[in-house]
Order: sequence, then structure tokens, then C-alpha cells
Amino acid sequence: MPSARYARWDGVGRPFQFVETDRPDPVAGETLVEIDLATICGSDLHTVAGHRPGPAPSVLGHEQIGRTVAGDRVVWSVVVSCFGCTRCARGLPQKCLNLRKFGHEPLTAGWTLSGGFATHALLPPGTTIVPVPDTLPDVVAAPAACATATVAAMLDAADPVNGRRVLVTGAGLLGVTAAAMCAAAGAEVTVSDPDPARQALARRFGAEHVVGPDNRPRAVDVALELSGAPAAVAACLDALDVGGRAILAGSVSPAPPVPVDPEQIVRRLLTVHGVHNYRPEHLVQAVAFLAAHHERFPFAQLVGDTFALSQLDRAFEQAGRTPRVAVDPRR
Ligand SMILES: [Zn+2]
Ligand SMILES: [Zn+2]
Repeated sequence: MPSARYARWDGVGRPFQFVETDRPDPVAGETLVEIDLATICGSDLHTVAGHRPGPAPSVLGHEQIGRTVAGDRVVWSVVVSCFGCTRCARGLPQKCLNLRKFGHEPLTAGWTLSGGFATHALLPPGTTIVPVPDTLPDVVAAPAACATATVAAMLDAADPVNGRRVLVTGAGLLGVTAAAMCAAAGAEVTVSDPDPARQALARRFGAEHVVGPDNRPRAVDVALELSGAPAAVAACLDALDVGGRAILAGSVSPAPPVPVDPEQIVRRLLTVHGVHNYRPEHLVQAVAFLAAHHERFPFAQLVGDTFALSQLDRAFEQAGRTPRVAVDPRR
């Protein structure tokens, strides 16, 4: 019987274990995918470092590209939704009452090939699977399933940004993706980040203005928060013009609360909108955006070194020095 291999994460401070398993025969509604390339998301780094809880043992990794047994090049959603519950029915499948998340499930749940750091993945029914054009390189397409689709969900929540003044706080992979997506849509984009190297990167992704935390702009129409820093969340609320919308997505681990002045929310007609996970159409939009714009903005350069699956511990040590590092399970 053909085999598959996955990297088992046993908890904080433990090295990855590499496990051979039988390659499953997909049953009705399931899709078996051979993974070509995975990237290490910031949330995987936080899980492995113990900054956020993650089930162990588990198979981590949720940004990847692969090929189905039929040969189609695809990316797929982090969330697996039932599309039958009340949450799904009200248009929130990303918060399905029966939600499962690729790369986030305990191995004890019986779904073995459930993460990106593996040779194969078994995608249950309810996974959104999106074809990837041949012109899109693996390193550009792999982050679509987390980073790019999340940014697409933020822009959806922001309403059209065409002609608007947009502030993006945090110039990691999501921040520069947000800058590029807003610039491509015709917005005037300011990116705020304390790090000069990340400021320079933001400029290459369409930011018209780059600033440090001390001179953020006033009176923007839309603020996209991706740093997770409480001071940046507060600054996003402060920066909004009348009718402005703050879209928060960076705050995904515990942090001190942020003071909110309700009079300002009322008088300035502000909207604060949280984005976590995304709907199927956002992954479709993410792939379409990357396909159309990956040559205008240097997305391929966001991914540093590529490691073999067996070098996953080293890949995690190197991650963070570049916006992403990659793992090639075929090596
Ligand atoms: Zn992620
Ligand atoms: Zn549901």
C-alpha cells in the first residue's frame, strides 16, 4: 500500500516526529492531495513557541499548495464547514458550529492527514478547494489559504476601498498583502510599522506613505489592523475620519485590553469589525488577486529558504527572519 508521511507535533519544546502512515483511499466527498509546498504561518510559530494553545499531538501547517489525484493544482481552505448549521445558514461558515480547521486538529480526532507539514492531505467534505493557474508559482500560491484569504475577507468587510484613504498597521506578510490589495483597488495606502526594513518592504507593495508609530495619519476612511499590538489597535480607532471603518484581524493571542471612547464611536459614526477565518469566496478572490498581481508586487520574495520536511525543526528556527519560509515535502 502506498504510504504518506507527516510531521507530528507533540507540544511545546518537543522536536517534530516524522511518521509513516498508509495513504488513505478517499471516500465520498473527500479529496486526497499530494502537497508540493507549504509555508510556515506566523500562527504556527506562535503555537510551537507556546504563545497560543494548540492541540498536541497534531499535524500543523495550513498554508500549502498541492495536486489532487486527478492532477489539479489546488489550494484549500483552513476551515471545514458543515454548510448546514444555523451559523452557516446566516452566512458565517467561517464560524460553523461544527467547524474543523486544517492544521489545527488533535490527531486523536481520527483525521490523520489534517495538516500541511506532510506529503499528503485528506480534505473532508466542506473544505473549499480552489484551482491555481499554472502561471502562479508555488511560493506565491501557498500562503493564499491563510494570509491572502484573510486579507480578502478584511477588504470585503471594509466595503470598496477604491479612492479611499487606507491605513495598514503591521507590515508582515498580511500587512504588505493588504497594502498591495488596496493599492491595486485604487486606494491611497499608508503603512505603519516600527521596523525600517519592513517599511521599505511595504513601499514595494504599493504603500504610498510609510510611517513609524509616532506619525500615523489622521482622518483615514479605513484602518486595517494586522499587528495585534494594543497600541496599534487604539491608533487605528483614533485615525478614523467620520464614517470610518476599523477592520481588526491581528489580535489573535491574548493581549491587554484597549480603551475605547464610546463618545468618539458615536459622534464620528465609526464601525469596528473583527475578521477571523474567511468565507469560501475570499479564497477564490485571494487566488485571483495573486494571479493578476504577483508580478507587479514581489510576492515571491516574501518566502525565504525552502527546507525538506525532515528539516522542519530547523525551518521553524529560521522562520521569522523572512516573512515566510517554505517546506517542500517532496525533498
Ligand atoms: Zn495562518
Ligand atoms: Zn455549519
